[in-house]
Amino acid sequence: MARDYPLNRVRNFGIIAHIDAGKTTTSERVLFYTGVSHKIGEVHEGATVMDWMEQERERGITIASAATTCFWKPSLDKDDSRKMRFNLIDTPGHIDFTIEVKRSLRVLDGAVVVFDGVAGVEPQSETNWRYASDGNVPRICFINKLDRMGANYDKAFQSILDRLSKNAAQMHMPIGAEDQFDSIIDLLTMKHVTFSGDKGKDMTHSEIPAEYLDEAKTRRAAMVEKIVETDDEMMTKFLEGKEFTVEELRAAVRKAVIDSKFHPVFCGSALKNRGVQLVLDAVIDYLPSPLDIPLPKGLSPLTGEAITRDVSDTAPFSALAFKIQSDPFVGSLTYFRVYSGMVTAGSYIYNASKDKKERIGRIVRMHANDREEVKEVYAGEIAAAVGLKDTTTSDTLCDEADPIILERIVIPESVISMRVEPKTKADQEKMGMALSRLAQEDPTFRVMSDPETNETIISGMGELHLDIIVDRMKREFNVDANTGKPQVAYRETIQGSAEAEGKHIKQSGGRGQYGHIRIRVRPIDYSVATEDLPKNTKRYDHFEFVNAIKGGSVPQEFIPAVEKGLKETMDRGVIAGFKMVDLSVELYDGSYHDVDSSEIAFKLAASMALKEAVDRAKPTILEPIMRVEVVTPDKFYGDVTGNLSSKRGQIEGMDERGLDKVVKALVPLSEMFGYATGLRSMTEGRATFTMEFAKYDAVPANLAKEIAEARNGK
Ligand code: GDP
Repeated sequence: MARDYPLNRVRNFGIIAHIDAGKTTTSERVLFYTGVSHKIGEVHEGATVMDWMEQERERGITIASAATTCFWKPSLDKDDSRKMRFNLIDTPGHIDFTIEVKRSLRVLDGAVVVFDGVAGVEPQSETNWRYASDGNVPRICFINKLDRMGANYDKAFQSILDRLSKNAAQMHMPIGAEDQFDSIIDLLTMKHVTFSGDKGKDMTHSEIPAEYLDEAKTRRAAMVEKIVETDDEMMTKFLEGKEFTVEELRAAVRKAVIDSKFHPVFCGSALKNRGVQLVLDAVIDYLPSPLDIPLPKGLSPLTGEAITRDVSDTAPFSALAFKIQSDPFVGSLTYFRVYSGMVTAGSYIYNASKDKKERIGRIVRMHANDREEVKEVYAGEIAAAVGLKDTTTSDTLCDEADPIILERIVIPESVISMRVEPKTKADQEKMGMALSRLAQEDPTFRVMSDPETNETIISGMGELHLDIIVDRMKREFNVDANTGKPQVAYRETIQGSAEAEGKHIKQSGGRGQYGHIRIRVRPIDYSVATEDLPKNTKRYDHFEFVNAIKGGSVPQEFIPAVEKGLKETMDRGVIAGFKMVDLSVELYDGSYHDVDSSEIAFKLAASMALKEAVDRAKPTILEPIMRVEVVTPDKFYGDVTGNLSSKRGQIEGMDERGLDKVVKALVPLSEMFGYATGLRSMTEGRATFTMEFAKYDAVPANLAKEIAEARNGK
């Protein structure tokens, strides 16, 4: 069998948006118009097809990043010769799920950015826009909700120019506003487009009504000017008075969009069924096929050298797993994008990131409400595999004979933690299962148990992230849980070196206990690369154990117990009950007793020795530091920076964005609770902010004392 769609007729794209801008509704319409979904769902009726997870429906936000396949041909084409396969990659809108946004950006080739026609550019649109810019993702814009009261196309467009990109142009002109919003003039073809039939699926392209012709001409002139600006040669000809054909302009837009130099702007109302089909046409016209984007970068696991692959069916197979999702029918699905070559269902593949061979059982392509089993997947395509056991997000799958590790998706630290407890004791085991399943899907979500209290602690990217996990536990796994207050995930470490001794000896009557060791502790040296960590990258969860026992002063059989005792003590925390990290411990001496020594005695000795050693080695509490970006009108600039400084923030820099100032700072997470409210009142609601994890850093001594006291006194 060979591929059914040539690569230039494939579009892998996502719809990205600020929460509530209408991404779900737009995606829904896309699936309806592309003919896959026969019953259109409304978000407010809670019946959308894309959001299969219950709580997404309830909250009206999309969390999971599934990929859905559908088909579209240009609306005006009579035959199927340009029919395309779309792989629509779902992306979330909320800040707590930036990992999902980043990860989906990694595998899509282009994006439709949806804006609310009333609010225009919103803070999250800026963050997502920046991620997309960082990843060089070509974008087209859709100003949605033009039917809403207060919607203003020109104003929303202006906010794109001011806050996102100067290189944008209106390609549409709306007819009628707010509840009178009726139809669209396509400025490129100069046609009046109206929508009728079920959910507006029947489009008519006709002459522009006379009363709108002048305005349309003026707007078209502005559009043409913007387009020719993207190309020097065109600009010259334009200045010489040349007029360009629709095809020439379309080609110029396509080229500039793919180079991320230009963003065409379209308009409509997804809810009122106007304009979405034109956006689909634009996806064909302007967003890249897998052939139009740069070759994937990778490393050879054999030589460590940079290598690339051709986006071709005959090249060696390589693919990136970008999402693991539980599926009600098959258990677990691994979504992957093939970058080169092809893969067949039932074959063995090599997970180069984990150095493991795996069998791909079945391969499915997910449609909106059914799934199609496929035998093969080719370069540039996206599909999901059933039956992969060891593969996790961001792993490279490839041909063992010709291995490659594709650039990884960086997974950020989890910085907030919370206790959870099932409402009934009987649910304890079920809760454990549910949490481990959820953790498998989501690399930013972690589960631990507090060894002292036996409580379960979950940690993640933010408060909403954990809320949603608890919610999913209830809906999908039927486990009701009580939760504690979200806490900053502090860590402990040491800043110096020390030696110490631990003795656990009881020898009065009967069988005694005897364990005795000597250890040295020091911080892990990150300036040298280790097996799994490149030079100078901190991971904040490292423990290194060096066995330097000579002559059997501690018998070999007890050494694992020593290591275990150390590890358990670190996990429990030594200073204030937070996990201790980044420690190297060398076991160099000790003694034993022929009869009385036991594993448990050595474990206890290890724990005592570690506490003693840490105490002497400049123990420190680490706190998560966030990279915060505030966009504020100039007149509040002083207040904003002053306030950040008072939060122990370090101002890193300042930029201008339109009339606004952008303040960049590093601020401890513990100071950022409630910041949204504080910022709003400080700036009359006119500033916005985003934050993400930057690093762990030592807490000042006075605060460390407070934190330790609060924790120990709990
Ligand atoms: P998402 O959070 O970006 O996925 O946005 P949704 O698609 O869930 O939409 C948020 C809300 O806006 C829902 O109540 C939708 O019904 C509504 N909505 C979406 N598109 C439109 C539109 O074009 N016009 C109007 N008036 N409302 C819309």
